[in-house]
Amino acid sequence: MNLILLGPPGAGKGTQAQRLVADLGIPQISTGEILRAAVKNGTPLGKQAGPLMDAGKLVPDELVVGIVDERLKEQDCARGFILDGFPRTIPQADALAAKLKSSGKAIDHVVSLEVPDEVIIERIKHRAATSVEKRSDDTPEKAQARLKAYAEQTAPLKSYYAKAGLLRTLNGVGALDQVYALIRKAIGA
Ligand code: AMP
Repeated sequence: MNLILLGPPGAGKGTQAQRLVADLGIPQISTGEILRAAVKNGTPLGKQAGPLMDAGKLVPDELVVGIVDERLKEQDCARGFILDGFPRTIPQADALAAKLKSSGKAIDHVVSLEVPDEVIIERIKHRAATSVEKRSDDTPEKAQARLKAYAEQTAPLKSYYAKAGLLRTLNGVGALDQVYALIRKAIGA
């Protein structure tokens, strides 16, 4: 099964993706995690992406499209994958569709986790206070910038995928188990 998890930062995409990995046996592809690793390792990609990530802005489409293209070629994606945090713009979605088509694949479901901004800000404050691995973009000010990037550049993907008949919109507020059950139902798993 080829899935996309859509939703604002802090909507729970990463946590829910990890559960899907365990249950479906397909990998999670998180562009945010791949970029954070590149920043940590000081690679050229990391040097380019780091300042943008820190400012809560999106990194250029060609960089993330390249990352995902490479990752999808790996053997573990043959049976399916869960994209978490990608695509985030219409050009990224177009590039993904073209790439999948050329290898005879397609997206099966796009799950959008709906969480209001106020709840997101509270969650990010909590994550910043309790998380072991600190994220430099997990501050309330930077969260605002990330929410703005989401609203302006990523939210339009909802109508993009709705038109394609792929969008499954869920209430992302609630207990993790409850949200997970909604996701399972939405993807027919
Ligand atoms: P995330 O962990 O998904 O919240 O991503 C952290 C940061 O990495 C984002 O705020 C962006 O700066 C960058 N990033 C991750 N995925 C993408 C993407 N698909 N397009 C552009 N920037 C991205």
